[in-house]
Amino acid sequence: MTDMEFQLSAIIKCSGSLTGISSQEQTDFVQSCNASLLKKGAPSGGGAEIVRWNIAGEKIELGLVSDRYVRVHDALLRLKNELAKFLGKHRIGLRGAEIEDYQILMDWDEDWQLKKLPFVKQINQEGGRLKLSLDVDEFALANRIPDRIIKLLEDKKEAAKWKGKSEHWELLFESEKKPYYFDKDPTEEMAKRGWIRHAAGRGQFIYGPQITKIFRAFERILFEEIFTPLGYEEMIFPKFVTWDVWKRSGHAKGIYPEAYYVCTPKTRDPEYWEEVMDYYKVTNEVPLDMIMERIENVGGMCYAQCPPSWVFWQGKTMPDDILPIKVFDRSGTSHRYESGGLHGIERLDEFHRVEIVWMGTKEQVIEHSKQLQAKYRLIFEAILDIEWREAWVTPWFMAQEGKAGLSELKEVGTTDYEAVLPYSGKLLEFQNVSVNGNKYPKGFSVKLQSGTELWSGCSGVGLERWAAVFLAQKGLDQDKWPVKFRDVVGELPEVFRFL
Ligand code: ATP
Ligand code: ZN
Ligand code: MG
Repeated sequence: MTDMEFQLSAIIKCSGSLTGISSQEQTDFVQSCNASLLKKGAPSGGGAEIVRWNIAGEKIELGLVSDRYVRVHDALLRLKNELAKFLGKHRIGLRGAEIEDYQILMDWDEDWQLKKLPFVKQINQEGGRLKLSLDVDEFALANRIPDRIIKLLEDKKEAAKWKGKSEHWELLFESEKKPYYFDKDPTEEMAKRGWIRHAAGRGQFIYGPQITKIFRAFERILFEEIFTPLGYEEMIFPKFVTWDVWKRSGHAKGIYPEAYYVCTPKTRDPEYWEEVMDYYKVTNEVPLDMIMERIENVGGMCYAQCPPSWVFWQGKTMPDDILPIKVFDRSGTSHRYESGGLHGIERLDEFHRVEIVWMGTKEQVIEHSKQLQAKYRLIFEAILDIEWREAWVTPWFMAQEGKAGLSELKEVGTTDYEAVLPYSGKLLEFQNVSVNGNKYPKGFSVKLQSGTELWSGCSGVGLERWAAVFLAQKGLDQDKWPVKFRDVVGELPEVFRFL
């Protein structure tokens, strides 16, 4: 028994009766297909075979089996082309195929149960074998759905292997211990002082003048220590992201539980919306179900910041001499549905981040990530004076493919920056530096004139996370802050008083 077997039953419909074709001619056709057409490209002994061939009026009832080479859906395509030529001689045309049954059988010694698979109507998993009955039409076969199901199974197997094992985490650097001047939760303390207030949305805050001034001070530090000396330029990236972008960036593989979805009206014709408006006017309730019927999803809110910017370079070729390219975006919010994990300004559904993106050859991108890391160390050491550590972790796009735990060559990958929050003793990731290899240039078809592979990296500085770490360790009283940072911030404005 081969490790993988495919079985297909189909009915091929023709434009006229086939009964005039002699049985000798039919046998010759089937034999010739079995001998060469359906074996081409497979190792000897492998390939596909017609196992059933039956003419009934204008139809051919067909049975095909194969191993992993020339899988039955490929065999069907080849056969249809050949058949068109054969029937052409009899002035009969092909009208398409109806797929009656499609089965995949393979060795399967996983101890976990498969629940549901797309295009699969029945899953049978026993005795070390897996049998899938597919619900597919010709169109799905032409789109190679069976191949993708097999790839999906391989991904799931890989994911199961890493599940339970902790993600790869390797300490790269640890700062000296620093004195903590605070043992409270900075979110609560800021709320008490009126620096922030919970907004109407979940995981969303309104930042008052004091904390806003602190965020802007963080940005000024980035300008002075990184953007100006390292030659960065500012860009403005979109904050609504289409599915096409997330397909190219890879987020479409797994973003669903954390996305903030965006919808547009099916039409902006006011008449189409009149019922909704009237309902609201008489009830003072927004009729969500009526709205849901009238809108359609077109993508989501900014999640990772850099993906939608790649459309700027998409399909372009750049001369090598403009490399390395260094840009950043600080033009808006990021949104993630964080569910139960929400906590103060540490874990938000709406947050603010400065996203730094650089591109170049492999060497340039790795080299620049090192420069950037050196600058960050300087900031945390000499300006913010915090206690932090850096760790090499599995990048999200590998984790998503089930490869969490994979220890890499240390070329493509992510460095997470973590700091302890004294009030809880917990560690918080407050930023990262990622070398993404050719992932984005490949996904968005960006090339170099010389043909050298283009690489890129990105680094996300979460302003709320920087604030959470700094304030948790140093407190809210400026006289306890390092002098350098106090100088950057200046006076904290007191604007409001409430009665
Ligand atoms: P976590 O493990 O804490 O959920 P993450 O791995 O999801 O973080 P990344 O996807 O690496 O985070 O995002 C990059 C940066 O964006 C983080 O280092 C952090 O500064 C910021 N960030 C991500 N999620 C949030 C959030 N929910 N609230 C505030 N900042 C966030
Ligand atoms: Zn990024
Ligand atoms: Mg997260």
